[in-house]
Amino acid sequence: MIRRLKTEEQHTFSQLLLNWHANHGRHDLPWQQNRNLYRVWISEIMLQQTQVSTVIPYFERFMARFPDILTLANATEDDVLHLWTGLGYYARARNLHKTAKIIRDNYDGQFPEDFESVLALAGIGRSTAGAILAQALGQCHVILDGNVKRVLSRLYAITGWPGTKTIESQLWLHAESLTPEHNLKNYTQAIMDLGATVCARKPQCPQCPVSHLCQAYASEQTLSLPTPKPRKTKPVKATRMLILKNNESHVLLIQRPAKGIWGSLWSFPECEIETDITDWSRNTLGLQLSELHEGQQLRHTFSHYHLDITPLYAKANILSPSDKGISEAESPPYNEVPPEPMVEPKKIVWYNTRQPDSRGLPAPVKSLLQQLEF
Ligand code: SF4
Repeated sequence: MIRRLKTEEQHTFSQLLLNWHANHGRHDLPWQQNRNLYRVWISEIMLQQTQVSTVIPYFERFMARFPDILTLANATEDDVLHLWTGLGYYARARNLHKTAKIIRDNYDGQFPEDFESVLALAGIGRSTAGAILAQALGQCHVILDGNVKRVLSRLYAITGWPGTKTIESQLWLHAESLTPEHNLKNYTQAIMDLGATVCARKPQCPQCPVSHLCQAYASEQTLSLPTPKPRKTKPVKATRMLILKNNESHVLLIQRPAKGIWGSLWSFPECEIETDITDWSRNTLGLQLSELHEGQQLRHTFSHYHLDITPLYAKANILSPSDKGISEAESPPYNEVPPEPMVEPKKIVWYNTRQPDSRGLPAPVKSLLQQLEF
């Protein structure tokens, strides 16, 4: 049975945490400098499912390019996705851009300051809304991100995966009972820092300021809590990516649909394993291939499956030079009437890897482009 902390223990918890944070917390993160709603919002979205060390360079590049909401709102989606390349979970970037436009159009360019309005914005849940307002404005809101879930699961020795609704509801109640009414900027950062540094996956309990209140520590369960997500073997899917060069050595990229994996990013054409590549390229892309050869397979892992990618390299000749959506190339080496390409011309680009422009690329596409030799 879970033992609730007594009122005086709850007060002790927040006070100990604040004292610890003053000496051992993180005070020089880039979003803690010139702290405002915009910077904290961007950092909180980037930090979802991503570690601080990974986020820092992305955050700095993002701020250099989009220093305020209006600059972000007025940018193209490709510009935003370009700076997100490699950070993953691209819906976050699309939601940021969408939200910036909503704030420009509906809030006169000012990030809203009330909880309900922030919660209604795209890509912002209860914990993120609370974290933004607590850290930027010191408002009193409770947070429960991954780090806090780990700390509280151990503090109260809660068994059960925190991803389930039942366990999550228990954790919210505990988080509410521990959150003080004052000093929210520091408390919010302190509990996140404790989870990220001391109460990490391998906890450093001897250095923990609240170890005497921790039920997992007392019952030697710190390594088994929080209960991990039930393991399922990830399925493996396979695809072939066509890396097609024209006679200028530019590489064909296609913009993916807005919904689904790598939404709106630019990727190589993909074709299923059993499909005849030559016919498919002719009918779908209006391209005649030559010098076709296979490269080394690579695996990209998503949260819910592995994707085995076989790169196929070829030279591409455009069958329809009159098609204005595709740049000039050699004429096809035969006299047949070429078919109409099935891909919308504006969703196709011949990408110059020597002078790359700003567009979002999935990580394995970026990596395959970097390996190309010309
Ligand atoms: Fe985490 Fe250990 Fe502190 Fe408990 S005592 S909160 S397990 S670091």
